Amino acid sequence: MEPQTDLNDDDRRFLTRCVDLAREALDAGDEPFGSVLVDADGRELFADRNRVAGGDHTCHPEFEIARWAADHLTPQQRAETVVFTSGEHCPMCSAAHAWVGLGRIVYASSSQQLSAWHKEWGLAPGPVLPLPVQDVAPGIEVAGPDPELSTQVRNLHARLHGVDA
Ligand SMILES: [Zn+2]
Repeated sequence: MEPQTDLNDDDRRFLTRCVDLAREALDAGDEPFGSVLVDADGRELFADRNRVAGGDHTCHPEFEIARWAADHLTPQQRAETVVFTSGEHCPMCSAAHAWVGLGRIVYASSSQQLSAWHKEWGLAPGPVLPLPVQDVAPGIEVAGPDPELSTQVRNLHARLHGVDA
């Protein structure tokens, strides 16, 4: 087991919203990932879900958040944001997050968990190494996973792959 960071009720509220977005993605034929950008006052600024079903496998919600933030926020505002996400950023999204200068990341489930589930289900590894955020962007503060919400995320991924969770 990897260490788990204590999350507060606000964190869990936004993470629940992310899991809802992930479920919405799955229901729409996409992979179950959802993310929310929150400002320093706890207001949701932007939210998105996975949109890779069209064939562009870079359409991750965390990447869209980075691009939205670069277009709409000052560097100071970006640094004060928190990105909540159903699944920890992949290396592409971790890099985008860091280049754009966003703040803390809170995830419901970790990349390590997702890899372990895939392995358990006999799935081949993806084309990108499942590196933790801090192996890609060591300056970013991270928190997660959440025990209960990560179980919900696991169930969504099991549904995606047609296996019993
Ligand atoms: Zn990504």
